[in-house]
Amino acid sequence: MRGIAAFCLPGGALLLLLSLMVRAGLLTAWWPAAAPYVSATVLIAAILLAWRFRRSRALYALMAIALTHILLERLGMQAFGAAALLLPLNLAAAGLLRERGVISRSGLLRLAALLLQPALAATALLLFPRASTRFLLGRFSSSEWLAQSGLPQPSLAAFAVAALALCVGYGIRRSAQDSAFIWALAGAFLALDSRGSGPLPALYLTAAALIVGLSVVEASHRLAYRDELTGLPGRRALEEALASAGGRTTVAMVDVDHFKRFNDRYGHDAGDQVLKMVAARLSEAGGGGQAFRYGGEEFTILFRGCGAEQALPHLERARRAVAAQSFAIRAGRRPRKKPDRPAPKEKGTRRAFVSVSMGVAEAASSQDILSALKGADRALYRAKDEGRNRVVLGR
Ligand code: GH3
Ligand code: MG
Ligand code: MG
Repeated sequence: MRGIAAFCLPGGALLLLLSLMVRAGLLTAWWPAAAPYVSATVLIAAILLAWRFRRSRALYALMAIALTHILLERLGMQAFGAAALLLPLNLAAAGLLRERGVISRSGLLRLAALLLQPALAATALLLFPRASTRFLLGRFSSSEWLAQSGLPQPSLAAFAVAALALCVGYGIRRSAQDSAFIWALAGAFLALDSRGSGPLPALYLTAAALIVGLSVVEASHRLAYRDELTGLPGRRALEEALASAGGRTTVAMVDVDHFKRFNDRYGHDAGDQVLKMVAARLSEAGGGGQAFRYGGEEFTILFRGCGAEQALPHLERARRAVAAQSFAIRAGRRPRKKPDRPAPKEKGTRRAFVSVSMGVAEAASSQDILSALKGADRALYRAKDEGRNRVVLGR
């Protein structure tokens, strides 16, 4: 359910809303007059965002959309056929390309390749008008179903290929950027399909640009607030959560036990897998506790509006869940430096366990939240002293 919502928001919802508004005639009164200003503002803002945040894939997609937007109403049927073929292919390329920097050699080459396309298409249409027309506007199938669209069949094929490629990209990466490219492709389809219906193409191309622009904002937000390795909110998010917490709050500081030893024995990559596993178990703590990666192998769990005695059972359960999970050390993963002691030898995949220690403290109000954090830290030291793999409540 969450996955579907993450995929459909905001791109799918925006396109659905716009097409419903078009059907209900809610845009006729104001969109035609506003279209030039709104489209220009959205396109320029999205391009600036992509450029500043160095999102070369988004920038490429936005330039392709902008180019189509500028040329669309000026194109004859043949040139439209070229634009309708190239836009989906360019959006697929944007989705499949690697982030390579904007002001870099490959970034500039990509932009040059994009800007060359109208010139090449115009040259082909001038030099070989018959062959180009047959290729761009050809009817290769007599299907009624395909004829319902105003788009030439080669363009429809390009959209189908692009949709497939972008869906595969999303299936692999599952990022907001990749779902945005799929919805931008849908917006591009609606725009080209509604060519000749007044300001509708501008509406859907603007929506496509907005979707890509929003995904740039989303990606930058993630970069600032989420920890890359574990997917948990990071230190900055914790600091903001602490600053905005009011009333009774319980904080737990969590630290992986003997983690240096684990790294030395099984390697840094296996250590990273452990951090992911610990993060997953801590985020399932329940009781309204929210887990953050504090840094390194330390985590914080925050219970808002909740006293320590209510939080303790949930923390205790999370601690036990970490300790109970055996961890497969796959063959081929080798420690970076030579271990002090050889790892225990077993047949097949080796299994390892880790545990965490926790220190807990309660703040009665927002004023003492920072001292509660220090108290939780002191309690964590006690948990380590008393033998690790335990939860200690600070005084
Ligand atoms: P203790 O039980 O007292 O906490 O012992 P410890 O070995 O866990 O504590 P120490 O602070 O000495 O070591 C922490 C280790 O965590 C050192 C560092 O290599 C490792 N570490 C920190 N961040 C990461 C990370 O992102 N990935 C991996 N693999 N290791 C990390
Ligand atoms: Mg530590
Ligand atoms: Mg540790």
